[in-house]
Amino acid sequence: MTNFVVAIDGPAGSGKSSVSRRVASDLGFGYLDTGAAYRALTWWVYERANQPVESLGSGEFAADFDYRISTDPNDFWVKVAETDLTEKIRESNIALKVSDVAKQPAVREFMRELTRREVAKCSLPGIVVEGRDITSVVLPDAQIRLLLTADESVRLGRRSAEMPAAKQLGHEVSKRDLADSRVVDFMNPAAGVTLVDSTDLDFDQTVAAVKAFIAKQTN
Ligand code: C5P
Repeated sequence: MTNFVVAIDGPAGSGKSSVSRRVASDLGFGYLDTGAAYRALTWWVYERANQPVESLGSGEFAADFDYRISTDPNDFWVKVAETDLTEKIRESNIALKVSDVAKQPAVREFMRELTRREVAKCSLPGIVVEGRDITSVVLPDAQIRLLLTADESVRLGRRSAEMPAAKQLGHEVSKRDLADSRVVDFMNPAAGVTLVDSTDLDFDQTVAAVKAFIAKQTN
């Protein structure tokens, strides 16, 4: 069981997924993308179960939602039952609906327990867990707790560089951050959480800053 946890929260486009994945790979740690579970549940409720999103409120979905995720930073995949959703969950129709799923208390409770179980299962020396409420709610006892952010214009620029095809992307990301921030505060660090502002840092510099912080805390 892993006992060294690096928790990284931040808004869309902060670079937290790619930075977390690289840090995990460099350190020989596991990597857990918690947003993937919210995205997979969004796919499941709208496209597979074909139920109204409100039906998730009862928590009954937990028995039927057969979710699995890789925690290998160099071989990432997400599945629901036998369906591979690794690419599908990145589509904008999922991104547009995910906040409606994520705001339900029964969903958040389910995700909190799912995340804690995945962390407990990891047999590597450590795990990097990224999301919105990991430092504050899900794993507040993590050894390392960081909030990764960047100015909004920089975040939107990074997102459109990742997915140039999506025309309405800026609008979608801002709308999603606004909806999400009504449920969880991921713009201001909770007590004991360190802010890493990557506005003036490129990808490699951000990875180096996170690794330097971890090294400082552990030496
Ligand atoms: O990080 P990502 O953009 O993949 O997250 C997708 C969505 O999942 C977020 O917009 C948010 O609604 C939800 N989420 C959350 N709490 C987390 C991770 C993601 O509410 N820890």
